Amino acid sequence: MTRSVISAKYVLGMHDGHQAILRDHYVYIDGTHIEAVTQDAPASSDRVLCYEHGLVTPGFVNLHTHCIRGGLFRGIPDDLALEPFVPKLVYQVLLPLTSLASKVLSAEELRAVVSLGLLDLLRGGSTTVMDQFHHGQDVFFDVAKELGLRVVGAPFIMSASNARLGDDGYPVWDFEHDGLSELQRSIDTFTARDEGRDGLVQVAIGPHATDTCLPELLRECRKVADDLGCVLTTHFAQTEQEVALLRSRYGKGPAEYARDSGLLGPNVVLAHAGCATDDELKLLASTGTHVANCAFSFVREGVSFPWSRFARAGINTGIGTDSHGMDIVAEMRITGLLSKQHYGKAHVGTAHELFHAGTLAGAVALGRPDLGRVQAGAKADLLVWDLFKPHLQPVWDPIKNVLWKGHAGDIALTMVHGEVVVEDGRHTKVDEAAIMRMAATAAAKIWAVAEERGILPPR
Ligand SMILES: [Zn+2]
Repeated sequence: MTRSVISAKYVLGMHDGHQAILRDHYVYIDGTHIEAVTQDAPASSDRVLCYEHGLVTPGFVNLHTHCIRGGLFRGIPDDLALEPFVPKLVYQVLLPLTSLASKVLSAEELRAVVSLGLLDLLRGGSTTVMDQFHHGQDVFFDVAKELGLRVVGAPFIMSASNARLGDDGYPVWDFEHDGLSELQRSIDTFTARDEGRDGLVQVAIGPHATDTCLPELLRECRKVADDLGCVLTTHFAQTEQEVALLRSRYGKGPAEYARDSGLLGPNVVLAHAGCATDDELKLLASTGTHVANCAFSFVREGVSFPWSRFARAGINTGIGTDSHGMDIVAEMRITGLLSKQHYGKAHVGTAHELFHAGTLAGAVALGRPDLGRVQAGAKADLLVWDLFKPHLQPVWDPIKNVLWKGHAGDIALTMVHGEVVVEDGRHTKVDEAAIMRMAATAAAKIWAVAEERGILPPR
C-alpha cells in the first residue's frame, strides 16, 4: 500500500514532551494516524507531498463555536451603538434572528448555512471544532462528515424560555420547564451520533449558560456527562449582567455557583469566564476545569478577555472563534495583543504560547491526547503553511511569522483524519461556490423578514 509522506522545511513537532521546531523532517501518514516524524528519507514507492518552504503544524482544536451564526449574522453585530451592548445584541438582534432561521429556512437552506459555517472554520485552520447549536439542527453532524471536519457537537440544553430584555436592561426569562427533556434529547443524540475517538463525530453535553439553566439541571447535566464519559461545555461568566443575576438569585459569584452546581472539573470546558475575579479563576484552576478563550467576540464591543489572564491563573486555556471571525490565526493574534496590553509586557502572550493554546491545550480540554500534536501515534490532523510569501519571508522563527504576520490564507494543505480536505485554497470534495450561493440566498431570506419586523439595525 502507498504511504503518504509530507516533506517540509519546518515541522512544529514534539521534543521531550514540548512543541519544538524540527528542521527538514518528513511526516509519515499511515491511514488516519501519523506513523513517524523523522529525517529518514521516504522509499521510492511512497507518495511524497513536497513543500520546500513549508511549515507543518498540528491542525487547530477550536474549543467554542456557533457555526450557524457565523454566516447568518456576518457584518450585523459589528460597530453597533447598543447600550448595554451584549444584552441588547443578544436579546433584540441575535436571538430573534436565530429563531427566525428555524422558522423561515427550508432544510436545504439550513444545511447550506451550516455548510458555510463549517467550511469557513475548516478553511480558517480548525481541524477539530466544538460547536453549540440548537436541538433539531443535527444536520451539523452530516455536514461535518461530508466536509471531513472533526467535530464535537453540543446541542443546547436550558431551563429558561421566552427570553427577553427587561426595562432595566437585564435579561428576563421564564423557567417554565426543567430542561430535562432537552437533556434526554442530548443523551439520544449521543447514542445515535457519537463515534468515539476513531470517528470524526463526538457529542458533548451542552447546557446553555449558568444563568439560563437552573442548578438542578446543571447537576443532572454533569452527572450525565460523567456517566457517558464525555465533555460538558457551557457559557460561563461572559457578562456583568450574568454575574449580577447569579448574585441576586443565589447570593453567589459565578465560580462558587458553578462549583455548587457540579460544573467544575476536568471534563468541563467553560466558554469565556472573562467576568470571573482572580480568586474565582484560582478555583477553576484548582478543579482542573478548562477555559475556551474567544477574545475577538468581546473586544469588538470594547471588552478585553486576554488569554494570558486565564493561563497565568494556572487554567488550561484553549482558543475558540465563537461566532465571529473563523480565522483562528486572527483570533490568536488578537488575544495575544490583548495579553501584552493587559500586562504591559511584550513577552506575554507569545506566538509559541498561543500555538500551544490553539492545539495542545484544546486537545487536553477535550481529553484527546491523540490530537493537537504532530507526533507518531497522533491522529493525522495537520496543516501545511506556505511560507514563500512576501509577508512571511525571510524566516527567523516560522511560528512567529505565521502568528504575527500570517493568516489562514497561507495554509496550503489541510489534512484531517489522514485525508487531504483542503489543498491550494479549495476544498477537495465539496462545491464551495454552490455552498456560498445557497447560504447567501438563505441569509437574504431571513434578513428581508427581519428588516420588515424592525429586528435588524439600519445598513
Ligand atoms: Zn458561545
